[in-house]
Amino acid sequence: MNDPLIYLDNNATTAVAPECIETMLRCLRDCYGNPSSKHGSGETAKVETIRARGQLAALLGASPPEIVFTGSGTEATHQAILGALALRPGKRRIVTSQVEHPSTLLLLKHLEQDGIEVVYLPVDGEGQMDLDAVERAVTADTALVTLMWANNETGVVFPIAETAAMAAAKGVLFHTDAVQAVGKTPIDLRTLPVDFLSLSGHKLHAPKGIGALFVRKGHKIPPLLFGHQERGRRGSTENVPAIAALGTAAELAATGLDGYAAQVGALRERLESGLLAQLPGASINGAGATRLAGTTSLNLGGPEAEFVLDKLDRAGIHASAGAACSATGTEPSHVLLAMGLKPQDALSTIRFSLSRFTTPGEIDHVIRILPALTPAQPAAAA
Ligand code: PLP
Repeated sequence: MNDPLIYLDNNATTAVAPECIETMLRCLRDCYGNPSSKHGSGETAKVETIRARGQLAALLGASPPEIVFTGSGTEATHQAILGALALRPGKRRIVTSQVEHPSTLLLLKHLEQDGIEVVYLPVDGEGQMDLDAVERAVTADTALVTLMWANNETGVVFPIAETAAMAAAKGVLFHTDAVQAVGKTPIDLRTLPVDFLSLSGHKLHAPKGIGALFVRKGHKIPPLLFGHQERGRRGSTENVPAIAALGTAAELAATGLDGYAAQVGALRERLESGLLAQLPGASINGAGATRLAGTTSLNLGGPEAEFVLDKLDRAGIHASAGAACSATGTEPSHVLLAMGLKPQDALSTIRFSLSRFTTPGEIDHVIRILPALTPAQPAAAA
């Protein structure tokens, strides 16, 4: 009999929570109206979007009109960055980091072709950002600082509150890609001077194809898709089942937030110490930095990650090498290279990402299996 599946790739995507599936099925069955229609069916669908907007706003400490539902985290980030440039006509500089997600970096590379100057700040060996360096990079010509809240590969958390406050003091807009942070760490936008925040449903147990952008009250940013929906900020008939499921996911996350870091953090510690004890030469990337509770970036110290991941896959354990969206198996991760890892160490790194559904038994199974699947390394030459 096959081993049961152990899913430890939650930074790539999460399992849809049973409650979200229930919400979606109910909406597909009973709320098929168009929320813009004036009749009862439209009203029923609209009520679902209102409820979901409220649930998501509550998780973030936002007010409901500050939430724009989008089709993904990528779309939310694109709208924020392009929106910031529109809000600051004449300013042609954006400050960011070298370790952002490709959904940010690829747009910025594209904008460079249009003459936008983009400053990609380095990180230190732990993957951490120097706040002073961000401050020095902000000039009078800067429209926006955009930094991820937490890194999808290492889990390293950037000093978002401090950076947002610095940007606000300088009158520069601030966006954070919080796709990996929402639902895992407390976020209170009442006290955090962030102008824009992106999130994605499928990272917090809602389905794929739904995201949201927080736009602080007062910022009138243009849509990417024109239409009357979302108060003119995102055209397209609303994906009511997915929006409703994101609302349910937000409420579940809010309920579990207090216990999340302790529960998932303890499992991550157990995984790391269990593996490090058996894998001489292995180390944890970013171990010295503040990290998301559920992410571990394990440098095996030699063996090819792709080889070990393939063996893990056959053993029913699903993990990944760096960012799933860009993993070709041949290119070392830009995040790990920016942290100063040698290409061979980057290519020897496996990411495990846990969720609130991960169990101690699953972690113990990985600790038992992984060392046996990892080729021993020849002793270093004298
Ligand atoms: N930003 C980060 C940090 C991510 O990890 C991801 C997904 O991998 C995204 C953005 C993109 O989100 P989506 O898949 O919803 O477009």
